Amino acid sequence: MSLTPQEFLPPTSPDPHANFMREALREALAAYKEGEVPVGAVIAFEGRVIARAHNQRETLQDPTAHAEILAITQAASQLESWRLEGTALYVTLEPCPMCAGAIVNARIPALYFGAPDPKAGAVETLYRLASDPRLNHRAAVAGGLYAERSSALLSRFFAERRLGPGAPRHDGPAR
Ligand SMILES: [Zn+2]
Repeated sequence: MSLTPQEFLPPTSPDPHANFMREALREALAAYKEGEVPVGAVIAFEGRVIARAHNQRETLQDPTAHAEILAITQAASQLESWRLEGTALYVTLEPCPMCAGAIVNARIPALYFGAPDPKAGAVETLYRLASDPRLNHRAAVAGGLYAERSSALLSRFFAERRLGPGAPRHDGPAR
């Protein structure tokens, strides 16, 4: 699991959306190094990051500890409001139904995700929860930002997992 930010992160970009996703990728890398499924998220408000988190389901033994949920809680705390109007959420993997529901409930107006998720994607692939007119709020959704980099990290993580029990977690044996 020796993967450095220099090896993994894209170069900084003149495009602010790309840079926010780069920060989400940095969080995904942190999850990877902790032996967590590598997904990262940041929330931007007025041009800066106000929340950043990565998946911590194993660490916290909490099924709701997805990157998006943790970031939404942080952002609400920062803004002292459950309404995250004027924010944008950047996440490296397409949100699942739980996280898409939280995005709608938080009134987040803009969602950028990296790789699509054929197994749980709930804003484009399996469901379109963030753009369903029957719900009381919708987010503009844009996918594909650094998708290949995000899914490459997920593939690497699961390939290393398949080495069997005792496969490297945290900073396991160097490979
Ligand atoms: Zn989720």
